[in-house]
Amino acid sequence: MVTVALDADFFHRWMSAVSAAVDREAQRLTELDSAIGDADHGSNLRRGFAAAVASLDEERPDTPGAVLALAGRRLISTVGGASGPLYGTLLRRAGKALGDAGTVDAARLREALRTGVDAVAQLGSAAPGDKTMLDALYPAVEALGESGEDFEAARGAAEEGASATVPMLARRGRASYLGERSIGHQDPGATSSALLFAALADTAGAVASGDDGEAA
Ligand code: ADP
Ligand code: MG
Repeated sequence: MVTVALDADFFHRWMSAVSAAVDREAQRLTELDSAIGDADHGSNLRRGFAAAVASLDEERPDTPGAVLALAGRRLISTVGGASGPLYGTLLRRAGKALGDAGTVDAARLREALRTGVDAVAQLGSAAPGDKTMLDALYPAVEALGESGEDFEAARGAAEEGASATVPMLARRGRASYLGERSIGHQDPGATSSALLFAALADTAGAVASGDDGEAA
């Protein structure tokens, strides 16, 4: 369990971990998007998170809120596809919800993520069950639990949420143009949302084990 306060460095490392995961899984994300979209989800997110991390490395924002807000802005400005504005909104709104606190606890992070996910739903006029990233994001935020520290449960819930999109009929985004033919394929955005929460669990796990690159 992480009982320490989460600082700007934690959020910076989380975003770097997302970028590395997206890089590793880019081909898979694009393959999923080629089945029910336009085969650009992997390259979209790779470009967006690489730009976000480059800006974080350069500007080194000193609060958790500022880290997420900057990453969100960069996603919006560098990704042409739907996922850029959607993930960008998630991070920007979560960042705004964290305010200018120098450190935040996990419960506050959970609340901020909930605010961000609600903003994604509003921007995309989507709801759980529409076969979008929301089908991984909502269960993951719920699974963080009362303390907000159930990072491993959130990782699992996001993965299950992504798998659960396979039999769904897409009602939003490009996949919805396929109607019934969208059934039987996993949603690319829900799959990348699982990477976001896996990276969060990895980053939190590194803190808990003292392997976070900081002097003990
Ligand atoms: P594009 O669809 O513009 O090519 P991407 O391929 O990068 O963008 O992202 C596609 C993903 O974005 C989908 O798999 C889905 O999870 C998500 N998405 C698309 N439209 C919406 C929406 N209206 N609400 C929520 N998520 C959406
Ligand atoms: Mg696409």
